[in-house]
Amino acid sequence: MKTNNSLPKLSPLQSDWMLQLIGNKGLIDKLFETYGSPINIHHLPNFDKNVSLFQEVFKRHHIPFKLFYARKANKSKSLVKRAEQNGIGVDTASFRELQQALEAGVNPKRLVVTAAIKSKKLLKLAVENEVLVILDNQDECDLLSSIAKKLNKQTPVGFRVSGFLVGSKKLYSRFGFDIDKVEFIISSNCKPKNKTHLNYTGLHFHLNAYSTQERGAALCQCLLLSEELKAKGFHTEFIDIGGGVLMNYLSDKTEWINFKEELKKAVKGEREELTFNNDGLGYQMIENKLEGDLATYPFYNENNSAIFIEKILNYQNLSELLQDKAIEIRMELGRSLLDQVGLTLARVVFRKKDMYGRWLVGLEMNMSQLQSSSADFLLDPIYAFEIAEEDPVDAYFTGAYCLERDIVLKRKITLPHLPKVNDVIGFVNTAGYMMHFFETQAHLFELSVNLSLEEKKEHYEFKDFKNEE
Ligand SMILES: *Cc1c(COP(=O)(O)O)cnc(C)c1O
Repeated sequence: MKTNNSLPKLSPLQSDWMLQLIGNKGLIDKLFETYGSPINIHHLPNFDKNVSLFQEVFKRHHIPFKLFYARKANKSKSLVKRAEQNGIGVDTASFRELQQALEAGVNPKRLVVTAAIKSKKLLKLAVENEVLVILDNQDECDLLSSIAKKLNKQTPVGFRVSGFLVGSKKLYSRFGFDIDKVEFIISSNCKPKNKTHLNYTGLHFHLNAYSTQERGAALCQCLLLSEELKAKGFHTEFIDIGGGVLMNYLSDKTEWINFKEELKKAVKGEREELTFNNDGLGYQMIENKLEGDLATYPFYNENNSAIFIEKILNYQNLSELLQDKAIEIRMELGRSLLDQVGLTLARVVFRKKDMYGRWLVGLEMNMSQLQSSSADFLLDPIYAFEIAEEDPVDAYFTGAYCLERDIVLKRKITLPHLPKVNDVIGFVNTAGYMMHFFETQAHLFELSVNLSLEEKKEHYEFKDFKNEE
């Protein structure tokens, strides 16, 4: 049995602004004194950078396009305002998301409602402001139509499509209308040339997982559908291909491969644990055989960002097909627009050894403040430690909830030495989903504070951090 028990590293991609901050313990302490722990920091210039990066791809292909920021990925209002300043749209998924976007001054023409559940209140607000609504089922069509009728409006709608044929298989989704039935749905709910309360304007899809081929195939099928609709007198102004653009978090492919190998070994009992209580993060032993797959986000991947969009547009002859159609391609980007935008800082409150002799480092935050649907956040943290001439230690970070399972990172982390009380741990690149998506207020803990940095600077000072609320 091989026993290499050193812990595998997962070095994050990180930006200068994060390193600058984490290197300024005095400034961080001042932020904690004022705002408590944890603190989420948003670096807005990197959001701008991501916007231009994606815009460039469409410009290169000479395809008419519109980008939307899918704000459900992060609750901060500052990013909604930033989207507006960049001239891009905002995809909203609830009444409050829409209300805040309107209050932030986003042009209603650049807003879209894609909420999975659309309340009467949400639809009324959308109709009043002539905001595009993406329809998902017949009950929604009926409700929206009755609201528009009452307000004497013709309201712009798009239809969410699913059930695309990829190879010989139809893609399942609980969302949308089946591609084989949607033409009938559109012609029964809308009339060409806006004669009903629902005014057909375009098609929409958002696919699960991260396949560029599936997205390419779905876009092709929507183009065909738009031809059939055209024959019936319906003009498709746009096809919205949703989000799910992959983002890369890690700097080293070898580390990623090595981590997965070591995790499998640990689950098989061939090495010391590298996750809390040897959690397989999706891998498990069944009848002495390793089964399952890593149930985390694919934190290392090469098919990311602009390359991902490029690949969709290069699917078969899509780019060419799009040239002679006056159809705008839209995307709703959440996570990928937030690449290198966020940093979560938390204060060390205690250190202790558990029954098995493992170091537990208690952080003033809880598991819900660093959580997504991924089984763990697989990035090494960064830290602002008081310097000490001591040996490295391996530790787990524990959170403030009264649950045995409130372990902030399931991974065991090698630290340069045991942190002191009031030292600071930083989690890098957390703006997309990690900070807010599952954040709860159990124990009546306050929601974390959201600060934003509006400009790029060599030296940030306390006054550069704008508090959201
Ligand atoms: C969540 C969501 C998005 C954004 O997805 P990302 O993976 O964050 O880019 C876009 N559109 C719809 C309809 C969504 O539900």
